[in-house]
Amino acid sequence: MSNEILKKYVCLNPFKYLDIQQNGQWVCCPSWCPTNIRTHNHPVDKNENLKENWFSSQAVDIRRSVIDGTYRHCNHKVCPSLSQLINTGEKPDGFITIEEFNQQYDLENYQGLPNHILFGFDRSCNLRCPSCRSRLIPNSEINSEEYDIKKYLLECIEKDFSQSASLILITGSGDPFYSKLYRDYLINFNPMNYPKLDRIQLITNGILLTDQMWNSLNAKSYIKTIEVSIDAGTKETYESRTRLNGDWSSLIRNLRFLSSLTTLTDLICSFVVSKHNYKEMEIFLQLITEIFENAKFNFSVHYRQIVYWQEGAHSPSEIKNLQVFEKDHPEFRNFIHELDKIHRKNRVNHNFHHLYEE
Ligand code: SF4
Ligand code: SF4
Repeated sequence: MSNEILKKYVCLNPFKYLDIQQNGQWVCCPSWCPTNIRTHNHPVDKNENLKENWFSSQAVDIRRSVIDGTYRHCNHKVCPSLSQLINTGEKPDGFITIEEFNQQYDLENYQGLPNHILFGFDRSCNLRCPSCRSRLIPNSEINSEEYDIKKYLLECIEKDFSQSASLILITGSGDPFYSKLYRDYLINFNPMNYPKLDRIQLITNGILLTDQMWNSLNAKSYIKTIEVSIDAGTKETYESRTRLNGDWSSLIRNLRFLSSLTTLTDLICSFVVSKHNYKEMEIFLQLITEIFENAKFNFSVHYRQIVYWQEGAHSPSEIKNLQVFEKDHPEFRNFIHELDKIHRKNRVNHNFHHLYEE
C-alpha cells in the first residue's frame, strides 16, 4: 500500500483534540505528532493564551498537512492510525474522506474550537513509577507560583473551551485523585458550564479511588470511562518494581468497588509490558476477569510496550534491557511463550500483533 492513500483521508485530531501540558500544547499525542503549537517558547505564565495557540501558525500547518496528504508533522511509523492506513488501506477511526472533509470544513476560514480536551498540566501523583518519573512529584504548595499557573490554565480551559468540549480526559501524566487541582475540579464540577459535554474519561492508578472519593464527585455521572494503569499481576511486582509507593491491597479493594458501578460504560486495565512483569500477563488477565466478570459495563485489558520516556527513571540502555518484546532480547522467546497465553483471548487488546504477522 503506498503513501498515496494518505491524500484520500483526513485525520480530524488537529481539528478536535487539544492536549494541554505545563509547557506544551499538542493537537494529538506528542509522541505521534510532536509539534508544540504554543506561540512562544518561554515558560507558561499568566499571559498564556490557549485560544491563540489553538490557531497558531504551527497548528494551522499541521491542519494543512493532513489535508495535503503529507502528514509531515506526524510520525508515520509510531502513529497507529497512519500505520493502519498505510499498511492495510483501512480507514482508521477519527478519519474522514477528503470529499467529506471539503463538505464539512472550510480550512482557510477554520474557526472551530477543540471538542476533546486532555488535562496534562499537573504531573503530581502519589506514586513514583520508574517508567514515568525518577522522583515523587507531590502537589505544588497552594498559592505558590507553580500552583497558581496550573490553576490559571484550568481557568483558561473553562473560559475558552467549556462551550465546545464534548470529551474531557484527565490525565495520563499524573493522578486525577491525588492532584488537588483535578480532585477539586471533579468534586466541584458544574455541568452547566459544559453544555456539549458527553463524557469524562479518567486515567488513574486507582489507589485513591475509594467509594468515599467516588461519592464525593459532582462529576461522577459524567465519568463514563476509567482507565486504571496497573502494570503487574502480583503484589510483589506491583509494590517493588512497577508501582513504587503503591499498595496492592488498596488497589484490589478499589477495583472491586469499581466493579459495582452502574454508570460507567467502559473500564480499561492497562499493563505496560517489560522484563519485570511479562511473566504475569496471563495472571493479570485472570485477576481482572475474576473481578469484573459480573460488571454492568464493558471491560478490557490493554498490554503496551515499555518505551523510553525522558522524564522516567530509566536510561535508554536500561529501557532496552527491559524490552523483552524485541527480537534481539535474550528473553524474547520466553516473552513469546507468555504472549501466546493471552493473544486472541477475550477482552485482550495488545500492540504486539506484528510479531505474529512477520
Ligand atoms: S495522523 Fe496520527 S499522528 Fe497525525 S494527528 Fe492524526 S492521530 Fe495524530
Ligand atoms: S505512571 Fe501513572 S501512577 Fe505511575 S507515577 Fe506516572 S502518573 Fe503516577
